[in-house]
Amino acid sequence: MIINNMFFYNTLFRKKEKFEPFNPSKVGLYSCGPTVYDYAHIGHARTYVFVDVLKRVLEYSGYKVDHVMNITDVGHLTSEADTGDDKVEKKAKTEGKTAWDIAKYYTKDFFDMTGKLNILKPQVICKATDYIPQMIKIIKQLEEKGLTYVISDGVYFDTSKLKNYGKLARLKIEDLKEGARVGKNKEKRNPTDFALWKFTQSGTKRQMEWQSPWGVGFPGWHIECSAMSMEHLGETIDIHTGGIDHIPIHHTNEIAQSEGATGKLFVKYWLHAGHLLVEGKKMSKSLGNYYRLKDVVDKGYDPLSLRYLFLTAHYRTEMNFTWKALEGAQKAFSKLKVQLATGNLQLTNKKEKRVDSKLDSQVEEYSKRFRNYLNDDLDMPRAIALVWEVVKSDIPDSDKYKLIIDWDRVFGLGLAGQEIKNKELVISREVKGLVKEREKLREEKKWEEADKIRKEIEEKGYLVEDKQEKSIIKKKPRYDL
Ligand SMILES: [Zn+2]
Repeated sequence: MIINNMFFYNTLFRKKEKFEPFNPSKVGLYSCGPTVYDYAHIGHARTYVFVDVLKRVLEYSGYKVDHVMNITDVGHLTSEADTGDDKVEKKAKTEGKTAWDIAKYYTKDFFDMTGKLNILKPQVICKATDYIPQMIKIIKQLEEKGLTYVISDGVYFDTSKLKNYGKLARLKIEDLKEGARVGKNKEKRNPTDFALWKFTQSGTKRQMEWQSPWGVGFPGWHIECSAMSMEHLGETIDIHTGGIDHIPIHHTNEIAQSEGATGKLFVKYWLHAGHLLVEGKKMSKSLGNYYRLKDVVDKGYDPLSLRYLFLTAHYRTEMNFTWKALEGAQKAFSKLKVQLATGNLQLTNKKEKRVDSKLDSQVEEYSKRFRNYLNDDLDMPRAIALVWEVVKSDIPDSDKYKLIIDWDRVFGLGLAGQEIKNKELVISREVKGLVKEREKLREEKKWEEADKIRKEIEEKGYLVEDKQEKSIIKKKPRYDL
């Protein structure tokens, strides 16, 4: 059993709560995945970096995490009010491809992005189109309980029949004006009712459609998450994640379906990531501030600099992405890599014998603070600030290295990879000779000649830092500081 003191902000109760999973050593985690009809943008990147950090923190704390994520390849309509076209089928028409090809192409794009951001793959990645029988089964259960009704375009969930509908979003149903969410569908009984199964319109044929007890058609968007989480994680799960825009409709309706069908609590802890603004505005293609990871890379940035930038804001806050902020993040990240490279060099070159217990307690104190920040609803900004406190501290570089590499199991910045890269840091005899020569010239106050040698050293890919009498030599980082 793991003894933890972890607190997460649970959207269900709008407060931080102590984390106590059903199984004391194992956590069931379900994340709403992408709808694969377009390229993933940096707003998605932020949400999935948050999920990844959450998972890493749980693992760092000793839990085994069963992580399930869905891929929405059918049923997500262009309007939240269950009207409009299916996003994947619509894209297939405009691109002259099949809906299956569209889904496959953008799924690949999504995982290309998450891979570059060091986001660990969930244990289970499930496509909606593979779970149609499970969805039909839940709709049947809901029907048997009298929670559904059929109208001309599909099978709907009657939200007025469920006590507590809208508890997650704290919806005040009576305040919802008729038509507010009904869209154009006048047959719906309540504004909040939503489609469980949509019929293929008569006289048309969809690329993705299935037989059902109610007629040929396709599932509503929300039912897939109820079906897939139940299939892989059971009727009640520990943690469910998503973006805050999922709260009022998608997650609200997932709860209605799951709790309506099973009569049990669906999710114990709901965690939601905040929005990402770009240059102060909501990202949109028409504003020209709609960026993909590819745009970030094309401008010369390391994807992991973007990850670093995301870590500097708390996941629940609205974050404003600017190129200037990314530039700053990249510089800080590069600096950190140089620091670690130096620490690693010391670690491999020196076999220290520790006798200083004061130092050990200092290291211990840093570790404790790091854990406290993780436990406080994943406070990454403070954890990152602690990294810099450690870097600037007077503990030996090799200790700094050991601490930060351990913490990188949570940050996921690939810092441990520095170990291999830093073999380059073994400074050649030639450069060592130049450094010695330059130090001698400096002692003799022959500044001009010393400067010439400095340039020579720098041309060979090293940086020279003069600290009092001693020159420190460093390998130039991949990115300019
Ligand atoms: Zn979902």
